[in-house]
Amino acid sequence: WRLPPGEQQLSRTALVMGTLVEIKAFGDDEEQLDSAISKAFAEMTRLEALLSSHQPKSEISRLSNSADEFVASPETIELISLGRKIAERSNGAFDMTLGALKKLWAIESENPQVPSEEQIAVALQGVGPEALQLDGNRVRKKLPGLQVDLGGIAKGYAVDRALALLRAAGITSASVNAGGDIALLGDHDGRPWRIGIQHPRKSGELLAALELSDRAVVSSGDYERFFEQDGIRYHHIFDPRSGQPARLCQSVTVVAADAASADALATAAFVLGPEEGLQLLEQLPDVEGLIIANNGKEWQTSGLPQSQ
Ligand code: ADP
Ligand code: MG
Ligand code: MG
Repeated sequence: WRLPPGEQQLSRTALVMGTLVEIKAFGDDEEQLDSAISKAFAEMTRLEALLSSHQPKSEISRLSNSADEFVASPETIELISLGRKIAERSNGAFDMTLGALKKLWAIESENPQVPSEEQIAVALQGVGPEALQLDGNRVRKKLPGLQVDLGGIAKGYAVDRALALLRAAGITSASVNAGGDIALLGDHDGRPWRIGIQHPRKSGELLAALELSDRAVVSSGDYERFFEQDGIRYHHIFDPRSGQPARLCQSVTVVAADAASADALATAAFVLGPEEGLQLLEQLPDVEGLIIANNGKEWQTSGLPQSQ
């Protein structure tokens, strides 16, 4: 395809939140596009410094280390509040209190290992949707030692905020893609954006293509961050009931109005499995999804905007 006369496309990438982020924007003023993209990346880096549990000085790390009520920034409050809603809706499948469990498995480290049942039981002490309470700008943990982890929702949130900055700069067509957490502004060259969904077992092969405008689409899978021991795949999405990697799905893709919700819902549906996960997505207005079960079977919601 060709861009209309005077129309420019600017695309830049950067490493943020542990992943390669690509921002694309369209418009007739290249300087405007460039400055807006810079602001969007700066915002994502700022949010990473606030929300990451890998950075010892982040607000989330300080919250995890604090024994008392914690006064948090509006962004952290907004994100925990959204996460709590999805935690409740998913009966606790989405859980922002699994920080100790995540550290125990250390899936993304050099030497991940399968922990013992005793270690897992200790890491699961006191976790759950009720363990993190909000009161105005304060966060309360039910147990002082509770470790907070927003890894299942923060990337989506940062993608939303980056897109909001592009919009505020007057841009009407843009995409932000953080390793599969995607938010889309407007159309692409007068047509919906066409977004390919990666096959969870065939690298480089697409499972489906979706046609989307002004939407977010997020995929969660067991194929990107995992290790193998004795022929078993151990990945980074945990079932809070067992403390083990969730076993019912290979991948979940969620389409929603915002990427933060899509991110958390994808993690939740992955834990719930195809039947309950699909039920959760189908219940929510304006949300669609595509789930690949552990046997490779495809499950999708009734309104998935699949391109032919
Ligand atoms: P991706 O890494 O592709 O963004 P997810 O959005 O599913 O995948 O996020 C996985 C991360 O979410 C994990 O690395 C961990 O930080 C966190 N997490 C793991 N299990 C859960 C869970 N049951 N609920 C909420 N967050 C989780
Ligand atoms: Mg994610
Ligand atoms: Mg997620």
